[in-house]
Amino acid sequence: MKATIFHGPRDVRVESFPDPRIGAPNEAIVRITRAAICGSDLHSYHGRDEVIPGFVLGHEAIGIVEETGPAVSRIKKGQRVVISCVVSCGDCFFCRRGQPSQCSETGSAVFGFGKNFAGKFGEVGGCQSEAIAVPYADYTLYPLPDSITDEQAVFLADILPTGYFGALNGDIRPGDTVAIYGCGPVGLCAVMTAGLFGPSEIIAIDSVPHRLELAKKLGATAVNVSEASNTIMDRTNGRGADVCIEAVGSEAALNDAFISVRGGGTVSMIGVVGLPTFNFPMGLAFMKDLTFRTGLANMRNNIPHLARLIEKGRLDPTPLVSHVLPLSDTPRGYQIFDAKSEGALKVLIKP
Ligand code: NAD
Ligand code: ZN
Repeated sequence: MKATIFHGPRDVRVESFPDPRIGAPNEAIVRITRAAICGSDLHSYHGRDEVIPGFVLGHEAIGIVEETGPAVSRIKKGQRVVISCVVSCGDCFFCRRGQPSQCSETGSAVFGFGKNFAGKFGEVGGCQSEAIAVPYADYTLYPLPDSITDEQAVFLADILPTGYFGALNGDIRPGDTVAIYGCGPVGLCAVMTAGLFGPSEIIAIDSVPHRLELAKKLGATAVNVSEASNTIMDRTNGRGADVCIEAVGSEAALNDAFISVRGGGTVSMIGVVGLPTFNFPMGLAFMKDLTFRTGLANMRNNIPHLARLIEKGRLDPTPLVSHVLPLSDTPRGYQIFDAKSEGALKVLIKP
């Protein structure tokens, strides 16, 4: 098959790669119909994670089930499915209590990072490719209703549940002012899902004009990074935002969030920093009585209700799609998504 292979920082190539095969009895082979490039892929692309070249990239995809192992019972050949980017068993202590990204059976393995984040597997495949083997297929795969388009469905693999996780962790109450740092695809998914909790205003922050423009279309007050803290104070009688969601993965944005959140408020971080330690504003957090939450988002348990919201027209991530490229163009997809050029926002891949 053809797959997007990581060769080194800023060097990804579409090349031939061995076809995936059923390994364990609980696996299924999925033929990919849409994949996507994520801000998390950029961490590998930038060389920020220490990655060993030669693996297939990609953790966000949907496809058609082509083959199932003997222990797969719920998922059937021919079904159209979304692949949760975190492999989870559905049956362990954590999966049963709604924390599939802490799955003790898989060790929270994520597709598409080679030996990094591979949990208990050593390595799991990547889905910016023609096909992938999916462990624990009965739970990691979720069958899609026909009424959800391919373009919408691919958001269920990772970033719609991630935005929702950021909003849930923010403990948003009706009437709250929510500030969201970063209007990349993840930040904009947070804008859409934060809206489900009834805030009176969402202030979306970035410095890229076309991304701010879309935040505004999605109903947020869109402001430039340089004006963010003044705007937040102006709009909250000088108190600060009730909830700040960090969707960048940067120390600067996190510090801004700590400064602009009100006393007793919550900073919910979904951006990935990828460093073992990080400068945490302890004094500020203490004096302001703050709650700080972060984590690898729980994907799989949040897919069914987010899918229903898409089905009923309450959520529609389609406006975030800026490009749909053939698999052979994935390297260009990485370039424009990284540079935020050509109006790039969510870049989808069509094998
Ligand atoms: P992206 O790079 O497209 O978006 C980041 C945006 O932040 C950009 O538009 C950039 O202009 C903006 N930005 C940069 N500095 C800023 C600042 N100081 N203040 C405000 N905005 C700033 O990436 P994305 O795909 O939207 O992903 C965002 C983050 O979410 C990444 O770190 C990614 O790894 C993370 N992520 C986390 C999870 C999770 O499970 N927690 C899942 C998926 C992605
Ligand atoms: Zn992702």
